[in-house]
Amino acid sequence: MITIYRLPQKTGVLIFDMDLTLYTNQEYARFQIDRILQEAAAFKGKTVEALREDIAACRKEWAASHNGKGTSLGNVLAAMGISLDENIRWREAFLEPGDFLGEDPKLRETLSVLGADYALALVTNNPVLVARKTLRALGVEELFPVIIGMDTCGVSKPHRAPYLRAAELLGADPSKCVSIGDRYEIDIELPLELGMGGVLVEGVEDVYRLPPLLKNPPPARESEFSRIL
Ligand SMILES: [Mg+2]
Repeated sequence: MITIYRLPQKTGVLIFDMDLTLYTNQEYARFQIDRILQEAAAFKGKTVEALREDIAACRKEWAASHNGKGTSLGNVLAAMGISLDENIRWREAFLEPGDFLGEDPKLRETLSVLGADYALALVTNNPVLVARKTLRALGVEELFPVIIGMDTCGVSKPHRAPYLRAAELLGADPSKCVSIGDRYEIDIELPLELGMGGVLVEGVEDVYRLPPLLKNPPPARESEFSRIL
């Protein structure tokens, strides 16, 4: 399912999330979390189970002090005293996307079509090294002229810095950008606040459907904030 929250009058830049947006692979998504939690538990001298309980409590506290909103694992771990630098180091050392992902010719074709009409950027909560390895495994690395990772701005989404950096690097006003990702609170909500467009997808199968939808978006009904397709 694709949910279009807002599209600019004239879109210039598409800012893609990476994990679970440019590929659909729950096994790899789970592996990433489990591997980082394994390192985080060892770092804290706890069992993974105990750490998971701490994370659940921390997420609850975060929501209570942030209007019920959620946040990324990186931000939760940072709130628990595990720096983004540590998180970045573990991700660089232990994540090998090529073990899970393979070339996706349909994604390559889709991004090539989109790249002819829009400038493409990637904004991810993985470090740039892991982003490059992921894009290489999928066979689309050279299609993203701008790649912004957790280590580019030193923050984890949701945060305004990586989105504004992407717009700036492509010389576009934020109002001409559209953020596309699989998690509303991480990928869509804040870009909308920055005046960008936002499109929520459920995986790469939805990304394949984007070119005609972005070119000729269905009209929004006045009473609806979003268009669900
Ligand atoms: Mg994602």
